[in-house]
Amino acid sequence: MSRKCIICGKPAGSREHLFPAAFGGRRVSKKIYCEAHNNALGIHVVALLEALEYFNAALGVRSDHRRSPKPYEVEVETGERFHVLRDQFDIAPPRPLRETPELVERSATLKFSSKEQFYEWAESQRRDGYKVQKISESKFEKQYFSGPIKLSMEFGNEEFRRAIAYLGLTYLAHYYPDAARQSGLESIKLYVLGEEPVEDRVWWVDPHKITSCVSGEFKATHFVTVVIEEGGNSYAQVGFFGNLCLTVSLGSVQGVKPECVTTYINSTAESAAPDIDVIVDRELGGGIHLGSPEQGKEYLSKVIGGEIAHPVSQILKALDDEHLNAEVEGIRRRLDDAQGQPKDVRENVLVEIVDEQGQRIFNHLHTGISELIERNRDFPAHIRARLEELIAPDSDSPSGLSDAALTALERGKIGFANEISRLQENGQLTDETLKLLLAGGLGCAAVLRPVLDDFQASLPQ
Ligand SMILES: [Zn+2]
Repeated sequence: MSRKCIICGKPAGSREHLFPAAFGGRRVSKKIYCEAHNNALGIHVVALLEALEYFNAALGVRSDHRRSPKPYEVEVETGERFHVLRDQFDIAPPRPLRETPELVERSATLKFSSKEQFYEWAESQRRDGYKVQKISESKFEKQYFSGPIKLSMEFGNEEFRRAIAYLGLTYLAHYYPDAARQSGLESIKLYVLGEEPVEDRVWWVDPHKITSCVSGEFKATHFVTVVIEEGGNSYAQVGFFGNLCLTVSLGSVQGVKPECVTTYINSTAESAAPDIDVIVDRELGGGIHLGSPEQGKEYLSKVIGGEIAHPVSQILKALDDEHLNAEVEGIRRRLDDAQGQPKDVRENVLVEIVDEQGQRIFNHLHTGISELIERNRDFPAHIRARLEELIAPDSDSPSGLSDAALTALERGKIGFANEISRLQENGQLTDETLKLLLAGGLGCAAVLRPVLDDFQASLPQ
């Protein structure tokens, strides 16, 4: 059955994504918006991306419009740009030559994270009409990211909240096509189009008050619940990454039984398939914790005042935990497999693992040295300066680190490897200790110890 656009009544059929493609939405509809309105409402996806793009990259979400996940680009103090994808930091490819005319018709040294990245970049310059010639190539060195990442995220601004209303309206139209064309929703449509102010239509909800009905096996990253109350008031609640949660009051609909429909979305699903990318939980007469504009303001002020954990740090922590667990599992398996092998094989495995953990080891070094400087503000200036050298970036070096930092890192790696061996010998190498080694105080101490021993020995007596 062909449908008409819920906003203007012209024929629908734009194949819009129900949940935005950029957030891993895999389902499309041809029954909600006309082409023109679908295109115009694309600004809402842009607003959501502006706030949440980093999390997409950290989770490895592939947009439905792309073949692979899009990394998040960050620029560090030295001006170098990095790509973040899942828990990997890679040097970002140079900007296109059309944006850097100063490099055209001359030779320059450019950094790439890999040969593949170079060929890909060169190919895309060729498509732009430039000929790239490789004169020489230096040994590939791992790049270190000397962070920290500064995320500037805008939550809860007018655009973000309008985008939440757009999502809610789209899902209401999906589940209740007739109701979506009723006059009781006119006001929210004007709001979604940007023609009415937000007022109290969209509010924050404390994520701890929301109960999920989804089974543990389905990995729900987002959800959208549409609620029709007795009497016809309709709402939608949208939750991103398990921690950013808002309710929108959509308006009044008639002739629909009270119901609650939640769509759980797994944004890392590769394609649309039953129980893979979405699960729908439909409950006649059901209700959820909708909160209210007043409670929303209270929640926000508690977040700002630090009384409640910040939802963004909660999401980052959950992502870190997920990456860490995967890492620990892989390392454990390789160490277990190596057990019983000859000594040199075991040592090679250990060296390999430690090299792969270079970035984490550098992070330990960075944290440890920074805290040491912070705690000892009375250190003489020359000592401070030399300590700072141990973690100093250098954008001209292939590794991105100063010579002193690279030497310290190598020492730190040895300390890290020794700690793994020690734990293994004492039968203390568990998933828990491995986690503390990769991302906790145990690892930080192990890395710092030999570095500071060296440092002390180098000081004039
Ligand atoms: Zn339209």
